[in-house]
Amino acid sequence: MLRLIDNPPPWPNGARCAVCFAFDFDAESLLHLYYPDDSTRRISLSSSLRYGPRIAIPRLVHICRHFGIRQTVFVPGWCIETYPEAIELLVRDGHELAHHGWLHERPNQLSRADEERVLKKGMEAIEKATGKPPQGYRCPSGAYSEHTLDLLIENGFIYDASLGGDDVPYLVEGRAGRLVELPSDHSLDDWPQYVNMKEFNMAMTIQSPQRAMDVFRADFDAAWAHGGLWSSIWHPFVSGRLARADAMVGLIEHMQAKGDVWFATMAEIGDHIRDLVDRGEWAPRRERIPFWPEAVPQLARPSR
Ligand SMILES: [Zn+2]
Repeated sequence: MLRLIDNPPPWPNGARCAVCFAFDFDAESLLHLYYPDDSTRRISLSSSLRYGPRIAIPRLVHICRHFGIRQTVFVPGWCIETYPEAIELLVRDGHELAHHGWLHERPNQLSRADEERVLKKGMEAIEKATGKPPQGYRCPSGAYSEHTLDLLIENGFIYDASLGGDDVPYLVEGRAGRLVELPSDHSLDDWPQYVNMKEFNMAMTIQSPQRAMDVFRADFDAAWAHGGLWSSIWHPFVSGRLARADAMVGLIEHMQAKGDVWFATMAEIGDHIRDLVDRGEWAPRRERIPFWPEAVPQLARPSR
């Protein structure tokens, strides 16, 4: 076989690839962030979003328990305080809670001080719910700022899962040190497959679960063949709906039937990578950010 990844990490027990069903538990955070003036009057949007903590999370916990797997849930601190029952279900079954802002704020629209304030408040919520600080972070809306990396390192995070610079984990380096990056890609996001919500400016044609699974499964089959990392960017209120959850069950069955798959939380994957690096058993690619010290001058711009 023609290998397409030069230097895949050694996965535990000789596994072919690592898999984490990572979910972003956004609930109504985006509603309150985008529509502060009339969020309380948008009842039907609110209803669809709270399907996540009310219906989808118990369903996902049930599915994971059936298959004996644990997953990572990136959750804004406000959602932890607002939906304690769903959080308790996740924590009780050993799923990882990781950081996803306070109210899903976009860090690259905030000052450094505000980004840090939001980061610390989200950390406190996770620590209160789980008894320990979060190990990982996924930036809300992918709005990673020029300060994000340094703030994560200064606040003791082990990994980030916001970027998309490789098919396998790598190290990102900034002024404050380095961090394990567990990358994913838009192809593993459920938003472009399923979300059609005018309030969020998202008007994709809704795909059948089978067609969406074709995309997700192709990424998995390639990760399995070449030693990659498969980690999804799924949302409970989107992928936890009945037919999609049913298709997810089929995807997990496909993965388990192929065998030699390491199902793990992102924290476990991050710890594994850090241990490999510390022991000198694997040398990941390194990338320094931010990439550009300043905007690239343009010779000409469109006149209109
Ligand atoms: Zn989110």
